[in-house]
Amino acid sequence: MKSHYRVVVIGGGAVGVSTLYHLAKKGWSDVALLERTELTAGSTWHAAGLLPLFNMSYTVGQLHKYSVDLYKNLPAETGQDVSFHVTGNLRLATNRDRMDEYLKYCSTANTIGVPFRVITAEEVKSLWPLVELGNGGDTANIVGALYHPDDGHIAPADLTMALRKGARMRGAEIYEQTEVTNAVQLPSGEWKLTTSRGEVTCEHVVCATGNYARQTGKMFGINVPAIPVEHQYIVYDESPELVEYRKNGGKELAVLRESDESYYLREERGGWILGPYESGAPARFADGVPEWFGKSLFDGEIERLIPHIEAAQRRVPALEKCGIKTIVNGPISYTPDGSPLIGPAWGKRGLWLNEGHSFGITAAGGSGWQRAEWITESEPGIDMLAVDPRRFGPYTSKRYVVAKNEETYRNVFTVHFPDEEREDARPAKTSPVYDQIKKMGGVFGQRYGWERANWFAPEGVEPKDKFSFRRSNYFEHVGNECRNLREKVGVIDLTPFSKWEVTGPGAEAWLDSLVANKVPVKTGRIALCHALTKRGGIRSEFTITKLGENHFYAVSAGAAERYDHDLLQKALPTDGSVQLRNITNSRGVFVISGPRSRDLLAKLIDEPLDSKNFPWLTGKTLEVGLATDVHVLRVNFVGSLGWELHFPIEYAHHLFSAVFAAGCEFGVKMVGMRAMESLRMEKSYRMWGSDLTRDYTPFEAGLNRMVRMDKGEFVGRAALAAQLEKGVPNAFITVEVHDVVDADPLGNEPLFNAEGKLVGRLTAGYYGHCLQKSLGLGYVDPAYAAVGTELFVEILGERKRATVLVDSPYDPQNSELRA
Ligand SMILES: Cc1cc2nc3c(=O)[nH]c(=O)nc-3n(C[C@H](O)[C@H](O)[C@H](O)COP(=O)(O)OP(=O)(O)OC[C@H]3O[C@@H](n4cnc5c(N)ncnc54)[C@H](O)[C@@H]3O)c2cc1C
Repeated sequence: MKSHYRVVVIGGGAVGVSTLYHLAKKGWSDVALLERTELTAGSTWHAAGLLPLFNMSYTVGQLHKYSVDLYKNLPAETGQDVSFHVTGNLRLATNRDRMDEYLKYCSTANTIGVPFRVITAEEVKSLWPLVELGNGGDTANIVGALYHPDDGHIAPADLTMALRKGARMRGAEIYEQTEVTNAVQLPSGEWKLTTSRGEVTCEHVVCATGNYARQTGKMFGINVPAIPVEHQYIVYDESPELVEYRKNGGKELAVLRESDESYYLREERGGWILGPYESGAPARFADGVPEWFGKSLFDGEIERLIPHIEAAQRRVPALEKCGIKTIVNGPISYTPDGSPLIGPAWGKRGLWLNEGHSFGITAAGGSGWQRAEWITESEPGIDMLAVDPRRFGPYTSKRYVVAKNEETYRNVFTVHFPDEEREDARPAKTSPVYDQIKKMGGVFGQRYGWERANWFAPEGVEPKDKFSFRRSNYFEHVGNECRNLREKVGVIDLTPFSKWEVTGPGAEAWLDSLVANKVPVKTGRIALCHALTKRGGIRSEFTITKLGENHFYAVSAGAAERYDHDLLQKALPTDGSVQLRNITNSRGVFVISGPRSRDLLAKLIDEPLDSKNFPWLTGKTLEVGLATDVHVLRVNFVGSLGWELHFPIEYAHHLFSAVFAAGCEFGVKMVGMRAMESLRMEKSYRMWGSDLTRDYTPFEAGLNRMVRMDKGEFVGRAALAAQLEKGVPNAFITVEVHDVVDADPLGNEPLFNAEGKLVGRLTAGYYGHCLQKSLGLGYVDPAYAAVGTELFVEILGERKRATVLVDSPYDPQNSELRA
């Protein structure tokens, strides 16, 4: 082992070795992997090797697709077989919600080019002759299925060995029996690692330590929210029916998933492997993997498996005659939302994570590909926000992660509704007025650990969601909230917003170098500013207010706190000219918006609120009621007349009561997140994270007026200039979808032209309650962006006619906003 490498990868499972392979493939051969025992000794050796392409996430779907394509080519490239059985993959549906889930998935699959077919029960039988179609009683009837012809299963150890060979062929080094026991960052920024083989320094470290992620994180001073959960599968003896079927020329059966009974089934040497995702599987190793565990497994817990075994036997009676050979019960890494942690570690330079993989054999290829791209080119090639480790924050305490991971595990196969909210580990973070909001009928969801009211159940209505892919029980009430705001006045509690104070003589120049817009020059002005990637993609969105000389207040999405803080902190000048303070938790935010918002606030604020004294996009620090030091900003995300009150958190109760007392005569009511979604869509307001991502530049997003190419250098400027020269490949559009009965677009739907050619995709969709139109926002080939252009949107398997609308179809002149 050398004393210095450019990159050291810690952990020799499928994920670590794939990372090494991809770094070497990028031409970085001065790289080494250190494994504490032997390759595959973690979870990789006992994985069942399934490679499901199915994933509801646009990002994870792309990673899985990359893996499957790569694995097919690895044997030819490396000479090492990987036992990839391309059997196909069949997911059964026994009810409409499940079918809706598959149809929604199909939209995503279409936009990323994953081949699939939605098939009937009869086609299931012909593909899988040993299946029972159901009796409508204890075995539900199959109503259809989703079939992926391209995936199947692989031998995880063979895959790892092929990746090892591919990495070594390109000069990468691998050291087994080499444990990393300590890590120190040197003043140069390099990492010094202590290992059982001596010390080594490197520019970058990638942690790919599977079940050890938490203790590895501790070594580097970060709290990694990955804790394993027990996961089991049963290996059966030979199955006479299966053997007979194969003897008669039947080809290997597709991997079968009966999602509604939470299990998968595949062939294994004339028998079966049955893998349930059971309730009650406990999290393990929350305090680290004990020394004795090594390559061992847990004892099989047959009691937990019985309901799934029985369900599988009813669906595939051939199982009944098979004895159980063994139960494999191993630790499988999980995160609170079930997606892995692939990206930079927060607050540390040169430290990268590729941890928290629960489908790590499937994701190894794709995660290694993007991990390597991010390190070698300082940007990932695709939008990775859904798997970025910084999507979690400091709220991920051990108990939180344990509860959430157990919950995520037992819900792997439940229907993933777009409006789903899960119950465990809640409430965790609440606004000070949470109890009042609850009393007002608030039905909450959780984002970034925060409780946020999604909608308000009026008296007599049960404050409970009925999750669905279609319009659901809250539809009408959300509509009423929208109308009340547009016609009278509404209040939204946006306390979770991320907030920073930026001060010092270098503050303005520094902020200007980070964002594409010009930061406000005059005190009291507000500007919407986007921080871009080097490739010109939209990384972050900040609303920046100049509060005074050398004093700025920056606000971004609540879920972006750690993500954006990491950007700001890492970019901070080292000469002390700028001070950055994260004040997220010390200020609350209420939005007061609607035509009567001025009348309401006039009762609490002495300052004149007319447009001459307090124009749109300005802010003042004022007394509001009894509260002092309130930043009153004339901006909002719903597009009616309105102000945001950013107040010291201790005034939350007072201001909340004062706003409702003052607004009573004007019909003030609360507004939830779902109404906000509807309202912002009517104004074509782009949402960071869904509409605004690294995949698109501000020119593609139609935010040209927020790019000041003439102001001097800023991150991403060169890429934007190049794009202007070459031509902007996409245009942002708002569409109305016609003939919608009960299913509006939700985002990730493909857009087709009249000839059926894919010409774009929606990034968001909702019903615009005040416009009474089903709306979608998204990107399209500019040839199809003109107002009035007819397009087709695929929603739950049906192609619907759509028309391009003017940007901001509600009040396009912004006359209400500026009133
Ligand atoms: C029963 C079961 C079935 C599964 N089936 C599937 C499946 O069908 N399909 C699928 O996609 N996924 C499956 N999985 C999940 C899959 O096994 C994991 O997601 C995957 O193996 C993770 O790979 P990894 O490289 O991240 O971690 P691991 O394979 O756990 O590797 C991590 C490595 O890091 C090493 N290490 C840790 N700390 C250090 C240190 N300080 N210094 C040096 N080395 C260190 C460990 O020794 C270990 O070898 C299954 C899991 C289980 C438990």
